[in-house]
Amino acid sequence: MTHAIRIQREARTGHLALALHLASLGLPVLPLRAGKGPFGNCRTCADNACGGRPNMKTPGPCVCPRPCHAWAAATADPAVLTSSAWATTWRDAGVVGYHPGGAGVTVVDLDDADAVAWARATLPPTRTVATTRGEHWIYSGTMRSVNGVRAGADIKSLMSYARWLGPGTGDLADLPDVVRALAEKKTSTARLAPRSVTVPALAGGGECRHRSPAYLERGIAMAEQRITDATSGVHATVYRTFLAVLSAHGRCGCLTEAHIGRLFTAAQAKGESPRHCTDAWSNAATTLGL
Ligand SMILES: [Zn+2]
Ligand SMILES: [Zn+2]
Ligand SMILES: [Zn+2]
Repeated sequence: MTHAIRIQREARTGHLALALHLASLGLPVLPLRAGKGPFGNCRTCADNACGGRPNMKTPGPCVCPRPCHAWAAATADPAVLTSSAWATTWRDAGVVGYHPGGAGVTVVDLDDADAVAWARATLPPTRTVATTRGEHWIYSGTMRSVNGVRAGADIKSLMSYARWLGPGTGDLADLPDVVRALAEKKTSTARLAPRSVTVPALAGGGECRHRSPAYLERGIAMAEQRITDATSGVHATVYRTFLAVLSAHGRCGCLTEAHIGRLFTAAQAKGESPRHCTDAWSNAATTLGL
């Protein structure tokens, strides 16, 4: 019993000690759950009620002292890392994460052997770190983060987090155009996807009850933010958000494909496939009897 407790304490000390070491090297770090995802927001920040942090895509005034808002809370400041507001989370942390963009790097996260084989055949050699089933390929330089740039491959850089798995081996190479191009390709696919969506009832064109473009715009912006901020259960969050948007604007005919496209883009940035987006959208419409 005492033995088990001692081991547990050492593990707890370990996360913060590692985080402080990485911070001293200039890496903004954050605690992650054992499941490798970030911790949920505190009650004040739940559902982004605080408006979000200033460094987020939609900047907000949040100065929450706790490690809320996932990557946006990552810091290299030892005073914050050792603060009492972070102490509970370090105690519950399963692993240590970092914000690659904040560290000036891009992680190509390769989930499995197939993705690694593709990288070896396609990408310039650089520093690599072994993961559970695949590898992280780390390049110097930052870019937009995009999930699912190909089967089993995510790009994690700005506004993203990655699990710290050690310094890896090999020399750090500059971020090559071939990696930047993966994000471009993915974006154009995402932009095309909504065009294939048809929800017939939406074309019904009943007069909008809301009469205010600002109301619609605010609703869409909030929905995008809610999807963007989802730290776990992205699948369910996307569906619930689509449901909320459709229940507000599904009958008035004021939703355009541009609005739907924004929601799909937000969902795809979180790793949802175009197929899942169209399915979730039509399921939500069916549920509401549209
Ligand atoms: Zn908070
Ligand atoms: Zn907040
Ligand atoms: Zn409306």
